[in-house]
Amino acid sequence: MPIYEYEPDGHDCLICNGRTEVLQPIDAGALQYCPTCGLEVRRVISRATFQLNKTSSADKASAKGFTTFKRVEKGKWEKVGGEGPDMIVGTPEDVAAVEAEKTPKKKPIDLG
Ligand SMILES: [Zn+2]
Repeated sequence: MPIYEYEPDGHDCLICNGRTEVLQPIDAGALQYCPTCGLEVRRVISRATFQLNKTSSADKASAKGFTTFKRVEKGKWEKVGGEGPDMIVGTPEDVAAVEAEKTPKKKPIDLG
C-alpha cells in the first residue's frame, strides 16, 4: 500500500505538524479531512511513496544525478548507485593524496 502525504489546506495544522502520512489502498480516494485533527487537507501527490519500494539513500542520490561510491578497501571504491563506472581504483598517488587530505597539516610555528 502506498503512503500518501497530506498537507493542511489553507490553515495551519498544529497537531500533525504540517504534514500527515496516511497508508491507503491505491484505489482509495484522497482524504478530505485530516485523520489526526479533522481539518481539511489536500493530498500531496508528488511525494507519495510506496512502502514496499524502500529506496536506499544511494538510490535517492542517483535519482538526483549523483553517483555514490563506497570504499571497499584502500584505494578502491565500489559504485553503490548512480551513473558512472562500477569501480574506481585509485593509483598509489591518488591514495596518497586522499590520505594526505585526511591528516591535518601541521603548520610549523615560525618564530622568525
Ligand atoms: Zn492535521
